[in-house]
Amino acid sequence: MSILYKQFTVPLSEQNLARDMRDLVASDLGLSADDILELEILKKSLDARKKSQIFHHYQLRLVTRDDETLLRTNADKLENFEEKARYHPTNDIDFKGKSFRHPPVIIGSGPAGTFAALVLAELGQKCIVVERGEAVEDRMRTVHRLQRSGSFSEESNYCYGEGGAGTFSDGKLTCGRNHPLIRYLFEQWVRFGAPDSILYEAHPHIGTDYLMQIARKT
Ligand SMILES: Cc1cc2nc3c(=O)[nH]c(=O)nc-3n(C[C@H](O)[C@H](O)[C@H](O)COP(=O)(O)OP(=O)(O)OC[C@H]3O[C@@H](n4cnc5c(N)ncnc54)[C@H](O)[C@@H]3O)c2cc1C
Repeated sequence: MSILYKQFTVPLSEQNLARDMRDLVASDLGLSADDILELEILKKSLDARKKSQIFHHYQLRLVTRDDETLLRTNADKLENFEEKARYHPTNDIDFKGKSFRHPPVIIGSGPAGTFAALVLAELGQKCIVVERGEAVEDRMRTVHRLQRSGSFSEESNYCYGEGGAGTFSDGKLTCGRNHPLIRYLFEQWVRFGAPDSILYEAHPHIGTDYLMQIARKT
């Protein structure tokens, strides 16, 4: 059994004291930190409507020593957590133990090509990824050369090369959050090195430093 804490609000000033989230939640619910066995942040957003009072709002999943009593005594804040079915892109695909006669060829190692290759690999299928631009470290040097001297490579630049067009972006993950595939995509980015805050931040972000690591690992 798990509990959903619908909106746990923490003033930014308290967070700056670097208190552990478990301590904050425990004192709010009249528990000791040891009573909280599991704490997972599901959502986090910043409320800066009043400049003098800035808050973070969290949605949390908790497992405590006595969930039933806690639910009864904090019915205004807490409810039973209902786990949503996790969607995996391979769910609806069954190769029935067979393989492609020829490995599929994926053109480009941007997010679309990389995820296509990952899903095929998870299905035990080999594929070939063809990328016109350079490997990500070489690409970074080529992009720096462009910035320094204006020397432009048609094949490897901000748009072309391992990792795809967003590798040198400011890394905001601009997409809806409701489609069940999005959770899968974000979990794979975390698996390959992105910070796990992208799973719950309202405006998730992966910087170029992480994107390069991810491109290298995938
Ligand atoms: C400068 C910039 C900043 C951006 N910032 C953001 C952002 O902050 N947040 C956000 O969500 N989105 C951002 N985007 C958009 C995001 O990068 C794209 O939505 C995303 O990269 C699309 O993924 P894709 O795999 O479809 O295509 P791409 O990422 O474009 O990948 C295509 C890949 O195919 C390769 N390729 C192309 N032609 C060939 C060929 N003939 N043979 C072999 N390989 C080939 C390319 O080199 C590239 O690696 C940005 C885009 C740019 C250009």
